[in-house]
Amino acid sequence: MSSSYIQKFIFENLPVKGSLVVLDDAWLTIAEQKIYPDGLRQLLGKLLAANVLLTSNLKFDGKVICQIQDNPHFNLVVSECSNQYHIRATAKFTAKDEAMLDYSNYLQEGRLVVSIDSKTEGNLYQSIIAFNGSEVSEILNNYMIQSEQLKSWFFLAYTENKVVGFMLQQLPDTHQLHLDDIERVFMLASTLTTHELLLDDLERIITKLFNEDNVVVMPQHPVTFACSCSRQRVGEILRNLGKDELTTLIREQGNISVDCDYCNTEYRFTEYELSQFILQLSIEDLAPISTQIN
Ligand SMILES: [Zn+2]
Repeated sequence: MSSSYIQKFIFENLPVKGSLVVLDDAWLTIAEQKIYPDGLRQLLGKLLAANVLLTSNLKFDGKVICQIQDNPHFNLVVSECSNQYHIRATAKFTAKDEAMLDYSNYLQEGRLVVSIDSKTEGNLYQSIIAFNGSEVSEILNNYMIQSEQLKSWFFLAYTENKVVGFMLQQLPDTHQLHLDDIERVFMLASTLTTHELLLDDLERIITKLFNEDNVVVMPQHPVTFACSCSRQRVGEILRNLGKDELTTLIREQGNISVDCDYCNTEYRFTEYELSQFILQLSIEDLAPISTQIN
């Protein structure tokens, strides 16, 4: 049983809701797949916690993917969370960045791409968020203000073994009856400290911040590490390389092995298996001809 969890809450008399995510065991499993420079490990942890909070709004079978692109310090930082709260994350970085870089150095250049994938319909939505801030939470908060979406506020706290995220969100308030109270609870939330977020449970945080309001706290939902890689998927990727590239691979390497970036599982394919892919592709090429003949 995972000790990592997400827990939602809702204000009874105000159009405001929120979530708290605590990642400990699931985070450690992910963080220890590779030896990350400290700053990059922190970035990956905070991105993942924000990713889980963003997923808590997903109403269908699918996942939310957060990716940092166009950053000179690494090739890729990516995290995923499904509506079942299965998470995974990884970063690819060049050797020169194994030198100690501060977390904030990583947020000077690049952009955050948030994608929403439906299990049945594929990519449905993508938002591209410019880096405007020195924290993942600040970047998200500034984006929410600029994009004039309903008020949202993110706050993230990181230690090597535990990442915690807090999100407060306004719900539609058509008659604008609660403007002052909404303002008040968001102001109170902003007084939350990193120390409190790391040490207090949700009930305690709610009591400290919102003791004037009636807040209903939902049960915790476990968050677990799970990788969706499989031998079949890796096989498909290899097949998609095409006949020419597969032929070159066989000539240069013979048997090959492919490691999953998220979970380090190694998938081996023999020269014979690769040549079977080439054979299958050749048969598929012939298919249109046989349709014409018949
Ligand atoms: Zn995997």
